[in-house]
Order: sequence, then C-alpha cells, then structure tokens
Amino acid sequence: MTDAILFASDIDDPKPWREVIAERFPELEFRVFPEIGRPEEIRYALIWKIEGGVLRTLPKLQAIFALGAGVDQILIDPEFPRHLPLARLVEAGLAEQMSEYAIFATLYFHRQMAAYFAQQKRQEWRMLPGRHPAERGVGVMGLGMLGADAAKKLQFIGFRTAGWSRTPKHLPGIECFAGPDQLEHFLARSEVLINLLPLTPSTRGILGKALFDQLPDGAFIVHLGRGGQLVVEDLIAALDSGKLGGAMLDVFPQEPLPQGHPLWTHPKVVVTPHASTAPIASLAMGQVVENIRRVGAGEPLIGLVDPEVGY
Ligand code: NAP
Repeated sequence: MTDAILFASDIDDPKPWREVIAERFPELEFRVFPEIGRPEEIRYALIWKIEGGVLRTLPKLQAIFALGAGVDQILIDPEFPRHLPLARLVEAGLAEQMSEYAIFATLYFHRQMAAYFAQQKRQEWRMLPGRHPAERGVGVMGLGMLGADAAKKLQFIGFRTAGWSRTPKHLPGIECFAGPDQLEHFLARSEVLINLLPLTPSTRGILGKALFDQLPDGAFIVHLGRGGQLVVEDLIAALDSGKLGGAMLDVFPQEPLPQGHPLWTHPKVVVTPHASTAPIASLAMGQVVENIRRVGAGEPLIGLVDPEVGY
C-alpha cells in the first residue's frame, strides 16, 4: 500500500514542501487537499487549516504538523482527532521577527512617532516631552516562545518590563505575573500592552472593555496574537474616549480587514496585514522532516501541542 502526506493550506505554496518531502521521504506520496486519494493511505497531515471533519476520516493518520505557531484554526474542528500528536512550528525563525515588531511598536509609541509624523505634515517644529525607558511600563501577555523573547529584548533596551502567563514564570529582570488573579496588577502597570497569547476559549475576546479599563489612562495596545482576541467596538470606543492612546494591530477578527472598515482610517491606529512574521521555509521544513523521523522512531515531537489547553 502507498503511504502519503496530505498538504492543506490556503496561504502556503505546496511546491517547496512537495520537493523536500520527495527528497527526504521518497516513499511518501505528496497530496494536496482536496485531492486526498485513498484516505487510508494518508499517514501525515501538513496543514495551516483544513475543512472540519476531514482529519477524522483518515484512519491511518499518525501525526499532524501545523504550518504555523498557532493552532486555534486547527483545533476549532470539533471532530479533530485529539488522540493524535499535533505539532506546531517552533523552529521557523518566528521569535526574532515577532520581537522586532514588538520592539518597533513599543518604540513607536514611546517615542511619540505618530505625533511627530503629524507635526511634520504641518511643518511644525516642536519637541515633545519625552520619558526614560525605565519609567515606561511595558507588559507582554503570553510568555511562551514569542512573548518571552520579546520581553527579554524589551527589558534589555531598558523598559520596565513585565509578563503575564497562565503558569508562573521566572525571567531575570522581568516582573512575572500569572493567572487571572494577577492580571489586574499586571495591567495596572502596563502602559504599552503587547498581546502574544494563543487563541483559546480563555483568551477569546480578552482585549475588550473590561481589560482596557484596568490599564493606565492613555495606554497603547500592540495586538499580535489572533484576531478573535480583539473586541473591535470596545477598542474603538476606548481610543475615542481617550482611555487608550493608540493601537498597532497585526491581526483582526475578520481577515483581510474589509475595505472601508473604521480601523483602516482611525487616527490612533496602525494596521499591518498579519505580517509580523513569516516562517522561514527552510527552518520550518527542517522541523517537519525531523518530526516525521521522530514519529517513525517513536520519539516525542518538537513543538507538541496539548489540545486540552489549546496551545
Ligand atoms: P506559546 O509558546 O504556546 O506561548 C503561549 C503563552 O501564552 C504561554 O506563556 C502561556 O502560558 C500563555 N497563555 C496561554 N493561555 C493563557 C491564559 N489563559 N492566561 C495567561 N497566559 C496564557 O505560544 P507562542 O509560540 O509564543 O505564540 C503565541 C501566539 O502568537 C500563537 O498562538 C499565535 O496565535 C500567535 N502568533 C501570531 C503571529 C502573527 O503573525 N501575528 C505569528 C505567530 C504566532 P504558560 O507559559 O503558562 O503555558
């Protein structure tokens, strides 16, 4: 019987993946969804996302490899085969790129770049009062692969950096908060709030009025997690009331952000099109190749996800 790997993504090009699989695992046939062929021949699924219920119909599936760091778009399938190993991308150069974005956004707000750009348009020469980074509280929500890297680098630049995670963490120089009980204290000192949480039932809609109200007045939001965490109406209301000073947003509940959406033109908002990171294909392929080897050897996968916690 033929063994095959099923590829499914509406954002990734299958061609380089087909080549690397052909080179490293010539015994595996490469099939691109919806051309599944005989379902019992599929051993592995390599997916960004796939129609709900499909994975369940593959009786010999051994492992699922996500083509991203987040897996909410895969676990949303109520019929997802939870007994099978699911690995996300952790070795694809994402942390460095995400930290660049987090640092850029923090400096953009900290150095009042929106105000200076507006002054330049008016040809107005006026120095605004600034602050030392040690006086600026920056808070990173999520201290995993991406959040921990961003927090470390922001702390190195000199910001008064804190982080919030589900389970307690100890990171040198970073004030670490954990769990719902400590969220209030974490938010109260976060003048720049960077969201790098995974989308799970506990984090859906977390960037909403109740959270914004607990931030210092004039705080800035940097949203890099997943669109479903943001309540857009609450964000716009908080920006318009002056509760929030600005927002830099990379992910949205609806992507692409529709033409004419108020966030495109809001004077306090910077929009980027889910562009904060792009997996480096050679690294991502290396991880998947190694994980296929590990499945064969019965070894634990790199980037293994716990479907019960959702990340
Ligand atoms: P990760 O390594 O799994 O880390 C997730 C972090 O969030 C962990 O520190 C975890 O706490 C914390 N967390 C999860 N649920 C929480 C909760 N209910 N309360 C408090 N903290 C919670 O994930 P990652 O690799 O850093 O990636 C984070 C997310 O970024 C991904 O899931 C993805 O959605 C998003 N992302 C976005 C882009 C983009 O292009 N914008 C690119 C890549 C990834 P513990 O440490 O205690 O487990």
